[in-house]
Amino acid sequence: MMQLNFVDSHCHLNFPGLAEQLASIRENMANNQVGHALCISVNLQDYPQVLALAEQHENFYATVGIHPDYEDIPEFTVEQLVDFAHHPKVVGIGETGLDYFRLTGDLEWQRERFRKHIRAAKQVNKPLIIHTRAAAVDTIRILQEEQAEQVGGVMHCFTESYQVAQQAMALGFYISISGIVTFKNASDLREVVRQVPLDRLLIETDSPYLAPVPFRGKTNQPAYVRYVAEEIAKIKGISLEQVAQSTTSNFFKLFLPHL
Ligand SMILES: [Zn+2]
Ligand SMILES: [Zn+2]
Repeated sequence: MMQLNFVDSHCHLNFPGLAEQLASIRENMANNQVGHALCISVNLQDYPQVLALAEQHENFYATVGIHPDYEDIPEFTVEQLVDFAHHPKVVGIGETGLDYFRLTGDLEWQRERFRKHIRAAKQVNKPLIIHTRAAAVDTIRILQEEQAEQVGGVMHCFTESYQVAQQAMALGFYISISGIVTFKNASDLREVVRQVPLDRLLIETDSPYLAPVPFRGKTNQPAYVRYVAEEIAKIKGISLEQVAQSTTSNFFKLFLPHL
């Protein structure tokens, strides 16, 4: 029988509620065949904690980036991002992108910040982790204008249309599916999952948020990425082994191509 191996491609294990539980979180991962997790940075202040997780645990990796929802924080430069990103356990740049849902008004600063991340990613030749909410048109446009296809990346926690998925895939991006796919009202997303080829899919938890059914509303953790994979298997009418094998090999192809 095939040994399953899942990867949680997006989690925030340094956040309160998870950071104190790390031992049990790692045990639950092992018990659910979740072999690796990518710890995502959301601002430069928290970045040392995110990096420490990856330095202390062989099966954790880190990213560096400033989330679009952080409005009043000190500015940073492309060079700063590049410096941090040279670390061997930093495998991607983000999360970055646009969020016109949480913030409104003149968001030119968000678009500028997004462009800086793409430029840094191209300098270090590492893929991007993209957050987009109520901003798909501008997100795709900026990825195209900045030639993000040179590095590719992932559209994390994807909830957009198949058309947007196609535009992202045309730029070499992967589509990452979260626990939202298990929610009752997510039939549109399930239809997108049905259409996106298996060789473009990743899975994630976005822990501590978005716990899948049957844990909806509770604190999420990487072990639960298995429920996302089970839902994808059901939607596509394929085995859980196939989902595990493809999403894990997609993850390593994107983030650790030299392995
Ligand atoms: Zn996000
Ligand atoms: Zn996130």
